[in-house]
Amino acid sequence: MEMNADPSGKPRRDFLRSSLLGMAALTPGLSLVTGSVSGGKQEAGKLKVVCVGAHPDDPESGCGGVLAQYANAGHQVTIVYLTRGEAGIPGKSHDEAAAIRTLEAEKACKILKATPVFFGQIDGSTVMDRPQIDKMAGTLEGLDPDLVITHWAVDSHPDHQVAGMLSFQSWLRLKRKFRLAFFEVNAGYQTMQFRPTHYINITGVADQKKLALYQHVSQNPDEIYHQHHQLMQQFRGRELGGGEAEAYILLDASAGTL
Ligand SMILES: [Zn+2]
Repeated sequence: MEMNADPSGKPRRDFLRSSLLGMAALTPGLSLVTGSVSGGKQEAGKLKVVCVGAHPDDPESGCGGVLAQYANAGHQVTIVYLTRGEAGIPGKSHDEAAAIRTLEAEKACKILKATPVFFGQIDGSTVMDRPQIDKMAGTLEGLDPDLVITHWAVDSHPDHQVAGMLSFQSWLRLKRKFRLAFFEVNAGYQTMQFRPTHYINITGVADQKKLALYQHVSQNPDEIYHQHHQLMQQFRGRELGGGEAEAYILLDASAGTL
């Protein structure tokens, strides 16, 4: 498929040759060919992918390319926004900002062909405690994902930490029934000490990802894109051997794939 193409034509190290769907087809219990997934819980060949992001714009920035690739291939993609970005627009009340950013997130999800879910915590005041773990585990259990992608928790933003750790604790609570991978946002300033295990070439969906990010008009998407995430995509692409890429840490790397 085009998303597997290496535009540079250069040879790449095998473990970096992370063609998303090609790798998925190699994963035990996740065959896209037979459609038999985890005991047949899914309809033919369809995977359920869930992203847990702290604020509207984090999922789009961190893993919008992979989400678009899964959705474009016909898989079911859900984005769980931990907050509605209530504290993210100077001069606006929490309610005003939440309304604006909810609309932006919904527009971005349309472009990514994803379904938004709003978890109900508050931007800047997120909480990691037993009741919230219970709630996130219940949410994820209900969505019944094959793969969850969330924030790497070594991050300067407390809300990003909470999103990542609630997902991690839910993964433990649910007895590791889905694969768990971490994305990076605003690397160096926010995400830190991120040492990828997997790279995904997103060249073919880079425009779609950018368009989704640009729905977050209130967040100065030009700056997010040009000063941070475009550079990250280009750098991860260099490491991959060409094109633009997103990098991930798959928690159980022995699983072999995102
Ligand atoms: Zn954020």
